[in-house]
Amino acid sequence: MKLRLAFNSSKYPYADRMRVVIIGAGISGCVCAWRLAQEGHSVTLVEKGRGVGGRMATRRMEGARIDHGAQFFTARDPRMESLIEKWQHEGTVLPWYDRVPGREDLSGRIRFRGLDGITAPAKSLAQSFDVETGFFVSHIKRNHGIWTVTEKDGNQFECEHLVITMPSVQLLELFDRSDYQLDPETMERLGAIRHTRCLAVLGILDQPSSLLAPGTITHPVAEIDWLSDNQVKGISPIPACTIHASDKYSQKHWDSPDEDRIPYLVSVAEDCLKARIKSWSSHRWGFAKPIVTFGASHWHGSEEKLTLAGDGFGGERIENAALSGWEAADSILRI
Ligand SMILES: Cc1cc2nc3c(=O)[nH]c(=O)nc-3n(C[C@H](O)[C@H](O)[C@H](O)COP(=O)(O)OP(=O)(O)OC[C@H]3O[C@@H](n4cnc5c(N)ncnc54)[C@H](O)[C@@H]3O)c2cc1C
Repeated sequence: MKLRLAFNSSKYPYADRMRVVIIGAGISGCVCAWRLAQEGHSVTLVEKGRGVGGRMATRRMEGARIDHGAQFFTARDPRMESLIEKWQHEGTVLPWYDRVPGREDLSGRIRFRGLDGITAPAKSLAQSFDVETGFFVSHIKRNHGIWTVTEKDGNQFECEHLVITMPSVQLLELFDRSDYQLDPETMERLGAIRHTRCLAVLGILDQPSSLLAPGTITHPVAEIDWLSDNQVKGISPIPACTIHASDKYSQKHWDSPDEDRIPYLVSVAEDCLKARIKSWSSHRWGFAKPIVTFGASHWHGSEEKLTLAGDGFGGERIENAALSGWEAADSILRI
């Protein structure tokens, strides 16, 4: 078991800097961490997965590169525009499309993608703070003004301020394991947050698909929300598709074996793409998009020295999750 302070004192030489640990390396956690680090605070972000990005996930499979969670992001708020400007300046983000041929009903807002996958923006932000991946937080505890964040193997970080950005169901499980609670009204509002589910299929195609740029089809049938070719998108060297089942189909088949729930999705996709899916893998997103939110962009306890953020607070879309992290940082910086 190792106990570590959430900063390296030689890297952060200012005595008045706050030590902050952020749990969850999705976009909300990364934006919050980036803003706090920019202000000179010593930030460590801990993440149970192997990399950063959370639901902004890109997977390598048989030589393909596939965005298997979120597909694109947009900007309505000047703060998100400033982030996108930064990423475009670095070359990590590109405009993907604004119009889909034949879909004049869709908004003409620019959809952005990562240069080599949707994870790119989170990776870019993560260069400015310490990240500990493969760190599943099993317990949190506050004693004499210091938070201790403990991994399942017993490794720990200590900090003065804690930020938690995981989906609310996982947050409440963490509170439960830690025997920790906030006031009853806040607990009730946290318990009311709801997300859709999404069954995703990643497929390798036997030839280029028939899709024209931008390489997407939305709702080809009621059971499928999204179908895209990651090669036409520009992130995969070989033709490879992403299929997202609807919330209704995903709920209905959540616990079915793959052989019952995947063949239908594959056959619709093959018809649409005019190519055969020669191999596939499936993934269940238990928390895809929020449908009931907390009702505020984040929760901040200046007494507790605890801040909660994420899309369950900010609302649907990467932009709102990012702004949740941004505003969480604003509250912490006001302390
Ligand atoms: C299939 C799908 C398609 C989507 N499509 C789009 C789209 O096209 N455009 C769009 O704008 N949005 C889309 N979204 C929504 C978007 O991805 C999310 O709103 C956003 O990425 C959420 O970011 P977040 O930081 O709130 O949470 P997350 O990205 O979920 O980050 C939370 C992190 O916490 C980590 N974590 C959880 N528990 C622990 C623990 N105990 N210890 C340590 N770490 C932990 C998780 O591993 C995760 O990395 C989509 C989502 C899905 C699933």
